[in-house]
Parts: sequence; C-alpha cells; structure tokens
Amino acid sequence: MDDAEFRRRGKEMIDYIADYLLHISDRRVTPEVEPGYLRPLLPKNAPKKSEKWEDIMRDVERTIMPGITHWQHPRFHAYFPAGNSYPSILGEMLSAGVGIVGFSWAASPACTELETIMLDWIGRMIALPVDFLPFDPNRDDEESDDDESCLDTDDDDDESNNDHLHDPVINGDNNHERKQNRHIGGGVLLGSASECILVAMLAARTKKITDKRQSDPLIEDGQILAKLVCYTSKLAHSCVEKAGLIAMVRVRELPVDENFSLRGKTLDECIRADKEKGLIPFLVSGTLGTTSCCSYDNLEEIGEICQREQLWFHVDGAYAGSALICEEYRYIMKGLQYADSFNTNPNKWLLMNFDCSCFWVRDKFALINAMSVDPLYLQHKHAQHAVDYRHWGVALSRRFRALKLWFTIRSYGIEGLRHYIREHCRLAKVFELLIRTDSRFEIIGNVTLGLVCFRLKGSNKLSQTLLLSLNDSGLIHMVPSMVNDLYIIRFAICAKHATDDDMHVAFHVIQEHADSVIAEYRAQRS
Ligand code: PLP
Repeated sequence: MDDAEFRRRGKEMIDYIADYLLHISDRRVTPEVEPGYLRPLLPKNAPKKSEKWEDIMRDVERTIMPGITHWQHPRFHAYFPAGNSYPSILGEMLSAGVGIVGFSWAASPACTELETIMLDWIGRMIALPVDFLPFDPNRDDEESDDDESCLDTDDDDDESNNDHLHDPVINGDNNHERKQNRHIGGGVLLGSASECILVAMLAARTKKITDKRQSDPLIEDGQILAKLVCYTSKLAHSCVEKAGLIAMVRVRELPVDENFSLRGKTLDECIRADKEKGLIPFLVSGTLGTTSCCSYDNLEEIGEICQREQLWFHVDGAYAGSALICEEYRYIMKGLQYADSFNTNPNKWLLMNFDCSCFWVRDKFALINAMSVDPLYLQHKHAQHAVDYRHWGVALSRRFRALKLWFTIRSYGIEGLRHYIREHCRLAKVFELLIRTDSRFEIIGNVTLGLVCFRLKGSNKLSQTLLLSLNDSGLIHMVPSMVNDLYIIRFAICAKHATDDDMHVAFHVIQEHADSVIAEYRAQRS
C-alpha cells in the first residue's frame, strides 16, 4: 500500500466504521456461530503474495462480522459499557500513525507528558483527593487544610498548569519531594483494571516486605511472603483473586452485608483472627461499584482499619469511577481519602476505546520501588527530572493512550461527558420503573448508576432459564451474577446513544420471554 492508496483506503475505512455504527441495530446482537467457526472460512497458510484490499474488506463481512458480538448495539446490556466515540477512535488512529513506543520520557517526551497531564485532568474531574496528583505549586499553595480533594466543581476554573512537569520526580530523587513535604502522588495509564490491581498488590507486597525487614533484618523475604494476606469482598472482581495467584499471596474473600457492601466489622474480625495465627495482613482491595451489582464497599470503615493496621488500601472503581465527574454521585466516594491507590477505566464508561485504565497512587515511590529495573540501554540523561512510566507498571513498551483521552475530553468537554453519564443513569431509572410495573419481577440492590439488577421472583432456576432464553434469541444480550446466593440478571445501559425507546423495547422482549418461561415452568409442574 502506497501513500495514495493509504489515503483512499483510510477514508473508506472511516466510512465503513461510520456505516457499521449507524446501522448496527440491523444486526443480531450476538453471533450465531460455534467454536471453531472461523478456521474453515480462512486459508490454512498465510498468503505468499500480496492480496487486493477489496478482497480483504470483502472477507471482513463474510468471515469476521458473523463472529462479532456487537458491543455497541442498542440491545447490548451485558457486562459494562465498552467505551467508544469518534474522537477516541481518531485519537487511536493518530497513536497508531505516529507509531511510537513510550516506555520512558526520552522514548517520546510528548507521550509521557500528555499522559501525566491527562491523569491530572481526570483526577481533578473526578475530585480525587489532592494527594494522588503531582504537586502543583500554584494550585496547592492555595489549598486550605480542610479541602482535601481536588474538587472540580462545575465550570472549568482551571487554567491548566503544567508546572509539576518541572518538578524533580522519579528514579530515586524522592527525598527532595519528601523533604519539602509535598504530596508525592501521581497517575499512569495501564492496560486494564486487572493490571492496576495487580500492580497495586505488588507495590503493597514490596512495601510490607521492606517494612518487616527493617524491623527484623534477619528474616527472609520468602518467610514474609508466605504469611501475607490480602482482603477483599466476595463481590470484588475476580481479578483480585488472580492478582493473588500471580503475587503468590492469600486472598480472603469476605462476606458482604444486606446492601452487598463489605463492612469494617467483618474485615476487622478477619484481620484479628489472621494476626492471631501469625499471618501478616498487607492489603485491602475495596470496590466502588462491584461488577456483580454495582454495590459499594464501606470505604470509610475499611479505610480507618487500614490506617490503624498500616495496610495498603486499594479502591477499584473500574466502572463507577467515571460517575464521579458528576457532583451528585460523589457521595459514593466517601472514605476515598484513606486510599493508597485507586483505579478507574475510562474505556468502560467515559467514551474511550479500549484500552485505557487510570491508576493513581498516593506515594509513587512505593510503586516505583516495586517495579524498577534500570538497564543501561533504557537510561537517559533526563531520568532524574522526568517521569519514566516503565517504572509504574509491568510492561516496558507502552502505547500512546493519552492521545485518545486528549481528543475525547476536549471534544466533549467535561459538560458533554457529564451529560452522557447522567443520561445513562436516568435511563437505568426508567428501566427500573418498567421492571417494577410487572409484579413477577423484583429489583435486587439499589439502582444508583447505569446498572439494573433484577430477577424473576422464585427459584434461581427460573431466572437462569429466562436469561438463557433471552440470550439464545439474539435479540438482547445480558449476563448474570450471583449475590448472597441470589441469581440475578444484570441490565447495564451500554449504548452510547441509548434512548427511552430502547428501554421499552428491552422490557417488552424480557416480558415476552418471561411469559413463555413461566408458562413452560407451570406446564412442567402440573
Ligand atoms: N473491576 C471491576 C469493578 C470491574 O467491573 C471489572 C470488569 O468489568 C474489572 C475490575 C476488570 O476490568 P479489566 O477487564 O479492565 O481488567
């Protein structure tokens, strides 16, 4: 493909994407294929010679599209939204076009600096406690003691101030910032919430091992490792359990209360029992908006315990974190001031395409200490004064993810993004009310954001059969969850431009299938 053809094909591709999204509702939401469907449709070996672009594009419709689950479809209500917007797609395109690999500041200064600034923008948009952001002399000097968060109230006050970019940061010069009593937080973009939680766990593990070795220099790392315990709730995402597998630490999944919330008392009792056994608690991973039912752990009660016990407190707000750009939802973040780290995924609910996970830490040196290796070929002369994000995560090579954030936030503005979140929350209420009009159903948990959890009254089997029937129809797609032994159906508002009409259509499809499921159930029993 030469330059001229690239220009032509690029424009055609944009048209293809725009048409796909415009006419997506003409398609079945889930594919009707079986595992292995693709192999017989494609040649066994890669082509020896160049093929025509038209032929490749034709095969997209013939072979690929039949196997696509259409996440942007108005009847897609599974999981959580998969962020998507035109500015974000174009940001991704530019990122691919410039084709850089931004592992250190020197590897592409704009990649690192834009990432830092975007994390600051979002941190302020969601009113993160100010300690999570790099020190900013102009802003922070003004702060009063009781104003702990970097509240973005409505209209944008902030003339963006980039002075923090000149702060001495990173790679060992931590005393400078610590001595000046500056907050030493910061944020980074990682590939997934799972990665953020793993990285938080590794940082917490290193910190605890280092602290223990200071008080007992003869103890081996392995002896400490064997005793470490992380706590989370039964409703935390399975990535916490997975992080525990990778980090080789115990993970205790604690029960939740009747509001599906992990409470301080439950945590406290478990910590005490573990300490009596000689184990070493080191981390609590709380959730702000669980995957199962968008419930909230009691961050305040948990945070106080973490502070008392000197445990790292991570908060996972993968989905719900985006709602914090709206002031009216910030009540859910009460207690976040205790957290050591926080993650949220703009690629879920802030119109960014995958991948785009924000991760902030209160003490960046705790993270860097756990992640740094420094071979000669990666060193550069600005290392003492610049951020090198290779020390902030598992991967060395890093995509220029900040571009899509920059394009999207600027294109929508904070107001546009707030409107999008508020619409989804409003529609969830519309759907909740529809469900409540039919006495065969019950709502489980509170509908606070864009997720509605419901079930057919009666046995779990009934709701399970209903969901199977709905998903098999290809008319709508939802996934289940289990909360306190109840099988529930999760209805997430996902489509970017979801409407009231979409809620009514979904409700009618659900009702129709409920009619036949209940009729069949009755027939079997009589
Ligand atoms: N945490 C929560 C609360 C989630 O809802 C999810 C996914 O839905 C995850 C973590 C895992 O996200 P990721 O796929 O980015 O690893």
